[in-house]
This record gives sequence, C-alpha cells and structure tokens, in this order.
Amino acid sequence: MTQASSATQIPQTQAAFRRRGVMLVLASPPGGGKTTITRELMRSDAQTTVSVSATTRARRPGEVDGTHYHFVSTEKFQDMVRAGEMLEHALVYNKNYYGTPKAPVEEALSEGRDVLFDIDWQGNRQLKEMAPADVVSVYILPPSWEALAQRLHTRAQDSEEEISRRLGMAREEISHYGEFQYVIVNNDLGESVQLVHNILRAERARRERLVNLDDFVKTLKP
Ligand code: 5GP
Repeated sequence: MTQASSATQIPQTQAAFRRRGVMLVLASPPGGGKTTITRELMRSDAQTTVSVSATTRARRPGEVDGTHYHFVSTEKFQDMVRAGEMLEHALVYNKNYYGTPKAPVEEALSEGRDVLFDIDWQGNRQLKEMAPADVVSVYILPPSWEALAQRLHTRAQDSEEEISRRLGMAREEISHYGEFQYVIVNNDLGESVQLVHNILRAERARRERLVNLDDFVKTLKP
C-alpha cells in the first residue's frame, strides 16, 4: 500500500551500512499545508514513501482509492482493527475513522525507506507510544488564523457547514502542537518543505537508526 519506489537499492549517504527508516509524522490543522508538504517531499526525495491510510469517510472528487486513501466501509475498518492490521487508528472530527495499515509501514522501514504520515495528533500519540525510537514528529502551524480560514474556503471541496465545523476542530487540533518534537510556521511553502527535509536528513543520521554500524567501525581500525 506504500507507493512504489526503487526501494531495494537505496542510495545511502553512508554506503557501508544500512539504516532503519524514519517514521515522519506531519500534522497540522486542516488547511495547514501538511498534505502539500508531504507531496513535495515525496517528489523530491526518492528515499521517502507515504503511508496510505484507510478511512470510512466518503471519497472527495479527484481522490483515487488506494492512492489518497483506502476508502472502506465502517464494517471493513473495524475488521482491520480487530485483526490487528492497524498501526494506529482514530475517530477524527468525531465523524470518520482513519487508520494506518501496519504491513506496508513495517516493510518500508526495514528496507531503509522513510515513511511520511499525514495523520492527526491522536495518531501521533499512538505511534509515539508504540515506536518512540522510530517516530519524528513535526507540527505545521498556519501563519495566522485568517490564512487558515482562507485556505479552507478556497479549497471549498466541503460544504459551508463542513468548513465551519473544521475551523472549530482546527482550534482544538492546534492546542496539541506541544506534543510534537518540531514546530514549523508555514509562511512560505518552499521554505517549509526545505525545513522538513532538513529535519529528515538530520534524523536519518541518528546513530540508533544505523544498522550494523559496529561492523563498519571495525573496518576503520588499522
Ligand atoms: P481529510 O478527511 O481532510 O483527508 O483528513 C482529516 C484528518 O484526518 C487530517 O487531519 C488527517 O491528517 C487525519 N488522518 C488521515 N489519515 C489518518 C490516519 O491514518 N490516522 C489518523 N489518526 N489520522 C488521519
């Protein structure tokens, strides 16, 4: 369910050893920019892949099943949860269920690919509890409340009622920024993408992620 990439031959900065992938959680209130940032990162960095969530919400125009989400019935969603197939799941905006299918994430991480998660604060909490060493979390704040409202109106894929409901939830969402390791104010999309990329590159170099590092270091001794 992760998107295809040339996964097996990953160009490594430190070619002598492998590394475990990073679980990069990008969260923001709706309209905060995380979806665009995720897409830009995916485009510019071949080592990243995106986690495609399952959801019970209706498909919006232009969304493709299996690419944007796996659109499933509530019954199917609950079956997946019961079968232990979800890494995390949550009821978002008190309305629809969203969850992260486990298998593709585990596969990507063990192959040294980084997985981007466009999930909410509840999902971040669960992932952090489950895999604290793998998770790196970034919260993206809008530059102002007005900018956020404007984004939601311009997007206008949802009804007025849905937009004002989402603005209400955005207030609640933003209050969770303190649970994230990094915070970015999304003033300029290009800069925000660069910053997230820099965070990712630094996190890749963490010693704990480097597999068989000891063997490599042994080869450095005369
Ligand atoms: P939307 O319906 O606008 O695509 O997404 C609504 C919210 O659900 C967003 O904040 C998005 O990040 C969150 N979301 C999407 N997929 C998941 C998931 O798998 N788990 C959790 N916890 N939240 C998700």
